[in-house]
Amino acid sequence: MAGYMPGEQPPPGSRVVKLNTNENPWGPPPEVLEAIRAKTMETLRLYPEPTARPVREAAARAYGVTPEQVLVGNGSDDLLTILLRTLLDPGEVFAAPEPTYTLYEPLTRIQGGRYVGIPWGEGLSLPVEALAAAGAKLTMVTRPNAPTGHVVPLEEVARLCRLCLPHGVVVLDEAYGDFAEDNGLPLLPAHPNLVVIRSFSKSLSLAGLRLGLGFMSRELAWEMHKVRDSYNVDQLAQAGAVAALENLGAVARVTARIKAERTRATEALTRRGFTVFPSQANFLLATIPAGRRDGRAWLDDLKGQGILVRYFGSDPRLADKLRITIGTPEEMELLFQAVDRLLADNGGSSPP
Ligand SMILES: *Cc1c(COP(=O)(O)O)cnc(C)c1O
Repeated sequence: MAGYMPGEQPPPGSRVVKLNTNENPWGPPPEVLEAIRAKTMETLRLYPEPTARPVREAAARAYGVTPEQVLVGNGSDDLLTILLRTLLDPGEVFAAPEPTYTLYEPLTRIQGGRYVGIPWGEGLSLPVEALAAAGAKLTMVTRPNAPTGHVVPLEEVARLCRLCLPHGVVVLDEAYGDFAEDNGLPLLPAHPNLVVIRSFSKSLSLAGLRLGLGFMSRELAWEMHKVRDSYNVDQLAQAGAVAALENLGAVARVTARIKAERTRATEALTRRGFTVFPSQANFLLATIPAGRRDGRAWLDDLKGQGILVRYFGSDPRLADKLRITIGTPEEMELLFQAVDRLLADNGGSSPP
C-alpha cells in the first residue's frame, strides 16, 4: 500500500522559511513550558493518568461540555486511528469529500475498510446526498477543509448527520477550527452520531507535543476508551495541554494575527497572478499563474530560494496548486520576494 507522506521537516536550525506543514509561527503560551518543567524525576517515574482526566476536565471547562464527552489523543491523528479501530469493521465504508486530508485513506486501508472519496459539489459544496448514499459507517467532513481552506455550512453537516442515522457516524475534523468563523460543537447535543475532533498542532502551536481532543456523546467516548492505548497521552503532554487550555485568551490573540496576515497574503498573491481560494484556515491554496513553471517547478524553485511550501501534485485536481502556510509578516515578505524573483525569471510580468 502507499503510506501517508508527511511534509518535509528540516533539522532544527535550518535556515529555511517553513510554510509547508501548517505549524503556527508564534509558539504556545509560556505557561505551557512552565507546566512541563514542573514535572520531576519523581513524577515521571509513574504512569500518566490513563484517561488524561486533568485534560478532559480542563477541556470541559473551556468548551462547555462534560469531561465524559472528551477523549484525548496523542495528536488528533491518534483520535482518527481510535475512531477507525472502534467503528470500522473490515469491508465497511469510510467516506469523505475530496480532495481532503490524505491520511484518511491509508488509515482506512490499514483497518481493512473501503475508502470512498466523493468529489466536492459545485462551488466546493458538501455533497450531502452522495455521501449519505455511500452507506458509510464513518463519514468525514474536514472543516475548514485541507488543502482548500474552505468551510461548508453547519446546517449541511447537521443534515448529513440526520441522513447517516441510524448506523453512520459523522466526524468533523476541526484541526483548523480556531481559524474559522464558527465550529461544530453547538451541533453535538442534537446529533448523537456526531464526533468533533480538534488538534493542538495548529492554533495552539504545539505540534511537537502531540495532542488532540475528541468531543462526542459519553456513550461513544466510553467505547473509544476501550480501544485506545492504555496510556496514549504522556505526562508532559497532559501537563502542557492543561496549561494551554487555561490560556486560550493568548491563543485567540495569535489566531487573530494569523487571520489578518491571511487577508494580506491573499491580496499579495492575487496581485502576483495567483488565484487564491477563500480560506478560513492558517494556510492558502493558490493556483499558480500561467507560465513556463508547473506546480512541481514552483515547489522546487521556491525551495531553491529557501522557502518550503506543500505540493500535492499526485492528485490531478491539485497539480497546478500550492498550499502555503501563513507565517509571520517577515516570512510572508520573504515568500513574496522569492515569488517576484521567480516571476521575473519566468519572462512573466512583474507585479505592480
Ligand atoms: C494537521 C491535521 C491533523 C493532525 O493533527 P495532529 O493533532 O498533529 O495529529 C488532522 N487533520 C487535519 C485535517 C490536519 O490538517
